[in-house]
Amino acid sequence: MADERQNEQEFDDLLADFHIAQAKKAAKQAETAPAKAGPSPEKTNVRPKSVPRYAPADMPRKPDGTSYSIAELRQQQASRHAVQGQRTPYGELPPEKPLPPRQDPRSKNERARRQSAYEAAYRQQNPGQNKPVYKHRRVNKPNGALVLFTLLAILVGGLSIHQIAQNRSEAAETTPSVPVSDPAITEADTSAETEEPAPEELVLWNTTEVSNTRIDEGSLLLVNYQYPYEKADTIAVKDVYGNKNKYYQISSTAISLTEITLNAFNTMTEAFYNETGSDDMIIVSGYRNVQSQRDIYNDRVATQGEEMAAMYVANPGYSEHHTGLAMDLSFYTDEGKQVSIEEYEHGSWINEHCHEYGFVLRYPSDKVDITKISYEFWHYRYVGIPHAQIMSEKRLCLEEYIEYMKEYTTETKLLWIQGNGMMADVSPTALPSEGILVYYVPMTEGETTEIRVPRGNIFHDTEISGNNADGFIVTVHIGS
Ligand SMILES: [Zn+2]
Repeated sequence: MADERQNEQEFDDLLADFHIAQAKKAAKQAETAPAKAGPSPEKTNVRPKSVPRYAPADMPRKPDGTSYSIAELRQQQASRHAVQGQRTPYGELPPEKPLPPRQDPRSKNERARRQSAYEAAYRQQNPGQNKPVYKHRRVNKPNGALVLFTLLAILVGGLSIHQIAQNRSEAAETTPSVPVSDPAITEADTSAETEEPAPEELVLWNTTEVSNTRIDEGSLLLVNYQYPYEKADTIAVKDVYGNKNKYYQISSTAISLTEITLNAFNTMTEAFYNETGSDDMIIVSGYRNVQSQRDIYNDRVATQGEEMAAMYVANPGYSEHHTGLAMDLSFYTDEGKQVSIEEYEHGSWINEHCHEYGFVLRYPSDKVDITKISYEFWHYRYVGIPHAQIMSEKRLCLEEYIEYMKEYTTETKLLWIQGNGMMADVSPTALPSEGILVYYVPMTEGETTEIRVPRGNIFHDTEISGNNADGFIVTVHIGS
C-alpha cells in the first residue's frame, strides 16, 4: 500500500506544519496569558520563547526567506519524486525487495567437531585434566581464573610446539635421513595429517548466545522504507529537558532521545560550543512514538482534511525517529531567529565533526537513490564510535555500511580500527593487541544466534548491535 511507504520527507514536511501550528498556538498563549512558573531557564537553557516562529530546517524556504504555500510544497514533492524516478508523489513504490535469506546456522556437526577437536587438543596439552573450556560463556562475565588458566594452556602448548619444532630442526641438522621411529617427528606428522584446527585458533575465541529478539536493539539499526521499527512504542528514552547541558536549545520540553544518543549529543555540543562560542544549536525533533504520528495525522485531518492527511502521513513504524537515535537540528539565535544548518555561520561544523562523536548525516545528497530519502541536511543519526568514523571515511550511508560489514566475519577477516584511526583488515587467527575490532554475525534460524567474541582480558567493552534486518554487528575494544 502506498500510504504505508510514504517518503519520510513528506513526514518531515508535515511535521514542519505541525511545528508552525504549535508555534502559533504558543505565541497566542504567550500574548494572552502571563508566563507560567516553570523550571528556570538558566538550569535547562530552554529560551523563554522556546518554540521558534517557524519550524526550523524541516521547512523549505523561498530564496527571499518566505514560506512556500502548501500547493507549492506539493508541486515540489511531485517534481522531486519525478526526478528520483521512484514513484509519482502519491503513487506506488517500486516492488519491495525480499529480505535477504537468513544464513544457515553453523551445523551442529560442525560445532560438535570443533568441540571434540578442542577437547582432544586440551587433553593433549594438559595430561590428567579433563575440563575443556570451549563452551558458551557470557561475554560480560569473564572468569578471571579460567582466562588465566587458558593463557597458561596457550603458553604450555606454544612451548611444546616450539620444542617439537626445535627437535625437528636439530634432527634435520644432525641426521639428514630422519628415522621414522623418532617419537617427536612421528607425533608432529600425525597431528599434521589430521584436519583438526590448531588449538591456538580455538582458544582465541569464546562464544555467546544472543537472543534473536535483539535483532532490533542497538545503535546500528537500519530503519527505512524496507525495515520498520517494531519497538517504536516500547523503547526507553530520556527527556532531553533536564538532562541536557547549556550549550544547545530544544524546541520543546517533550523532546526525548535514547540515553546513549543524548550523552553523545551533549558531548558533541559542548565541543561545538568550545570551538565556536555558539550555543544556538537546537533540536527540533527527536524521538517520535506511534501516537505522536497519529497526533500529527489528526492535526492534518483537522486543518486540511482527510485526503491531505492520508497523502502526507507515513504509516507509523517506518520513521527513523522511532528509534530515539535520530534528531533534526537547526539553529536559533539570541535574536529569536531561526537559521538552518546550511545558512548558519558555524553550521558546517556539524557535518565536519559529528562522526567524532558517533553521529552521521543520515540522508546525504549523493545517496538519495539508496536511502530513498531526499537530501536532509538537518537529520542526524547516532550510530556510535567507531562506526560513524568508518562511514565518514569510506563515504557510506547506513544502508551501504550494513552491507559493507558483511564482508567481515569471524570466518573471513575482521575490520581493525587502530588507535591512530587507521583501518586495516586482520585475520581472525592473529588478533591485534590494541584498537577496536568490528565484524558481522548473520542471524541464524531459531531463537538465538551464536556469536564468537575474542577471548582474553584485553578484549573488553564488547557491544553487540542488531541491524534490524538480518544480523548483528560486534564491536570489541582492545587494550589492557
Ligand atoms: Zn528527521
